[in-house]
Amino acid sequence: MSKKFYIKTFGCQMNFNDSERLRGLLRSIGYEPANTWEEADLIILNTCTVREKPDQKVLSHLGEYKKIKEKNPNALIAVAGCLAQRAGWELVQKAPVIDIMFSSFNMHQLPELINQAQAGYKAIAILDEPPPDEDKIWEFPTERDNPYCAYVTVMKGCDKRCTYCVVPATRGRERSRSLESILEEVKRLTDEGVREIHLLGQNVTAWGRDLPEPVPFSELLYRVSQIPGVERIRFTTGHPKDLTDDVIEAMAEIPQVCNALHLPFQAGSDRILALMDRGYTKEEYLEKIRKLKEKVKGIALSTDVIVGFPTETEEDFEETLDVLKKVRFEQVFSFKFSPRPGTPAANMEGQLPDEVKTERMRRLLELQKSILSEIAKSYEGTVQEVLVEEEKDGKLIGRTSTNKWATLSGSPELLGKIVRIKVTKASPFNLEGEILEVVK
Ligand code: SF4
Repeated sequence: MSKKFYIKTFGCQMNFNDSERLRGLLRSIGYEPANTWEEADLIILNTCTVREKPDQKVLSHLGEYKKIKEKNPNALIAVAGCLAQRAGWELVQKAPVIDIMFSSFNMHQLPELINQAQAGYKAIAILDEPPPDEDKIWEFPTERDNPYCAYVTVMKGCDKRCTYCVVPATRGRERSRSLESILEEVKRLTDEGVREIHLLGQNVTAWGRDLPEPVPFSELLYRVSQIPGVERIRFTTGHPKDLTDDVIEAMAEIPQVCNALHLPFQAGSDRILALMDRGYTKEEYLEKIRKLKEKVKGIALSTDVIVGFPTETEEDFEETLDVLKKVRFEQVFSFKFSPRPGTPAANMEGQLPDEVKTERMRRLLELQKSILSEIAKSYEGTVQEVLVEEEKDGKLIGRTSTNKWATLSGSPELLGKIVRIKVTKASPFNLEGEILEVVK
């Protein structure tokens, strides 16, 4: 009887893609997915530590999952991802039920760690830096839920040093995956029927700089677009400083590159941006946006914002609201500043009281809500292309090139197809429309 695994994933798209890779790896060593954690012989928590809340969630899940050992004493509990890398043994002391620990550095070592744990050892493998054979992980297929859209991790880590961010500590320095390995995976995915490729990296636009023979990220976009079957290309997350003109040019030229970009600005005040060590000013960020809107017609922009960074004044915060008014983002991921252990910002003077952060967050969401309803109205009556990704409750669901979800009526035969629709009704997070024709 094959053993069963259950993976609980927290955090960003890269963590979800890592979990898809772990599923492929576990299948390749004879494990089957369990429907619920209660049925599993191996539970993996793939963790995030970008804010306080995810840390708490992990501990409460571990409190729940430990019950499995009452019913199945041979069951194993593993913790992976960024909290594992940041906390290591400190977390094992808090939760001694943990049998296995690894991070994004050494996912490929999981089979070995399972053997050690089954032999009764605590298999805690948190490394200071990625091992030389880290790229072995790409040999394992990903196992995805969506048959038409696939994440492809193209680089790991980040060389930036934003003062509030744990990523450089938990994911290491920038390591680009080889062009050949990426193109091979994209070919494999399109052979399986995938039509949309979503390139991932903590700072994806920095891809290629650290390769033995450096390659610009724009070149990767062109090469991926030349693979037969690639109908759409998305990429996340870019850093404004690395969004170079050649990347903007490629976005404008390559028909498959979707009309949407996630470009975090984090704060509007130059003083706060300097304290964050973001490496650009408000004007430089807005200049990038101007170039994007000029070159890539109708581009939909999304962003990340931190509210309540240490010493943030009312005037500083007004600068943040001003960027929202000027850019008019179609999606804003906004967070209250959360001091992270080991980051410079955690020890900065001038930490703000939570009620001030909460009040500013309320005003930011209010402003963004009004911008979103105006943007939604602008979609009504327009013609959009939608890749039909799934059928739910008798309706077809998919996303426009601008990354807006659309709900349509039509036959399931349209799954995986790109259809042209006329938008009949629009709300901030969903469009309704009638299908005009099948594009491809
Ligand atoms: S660029 Fe992003 S991932 Fe890198 S340190 Fe800054 S916030 Fe963190």
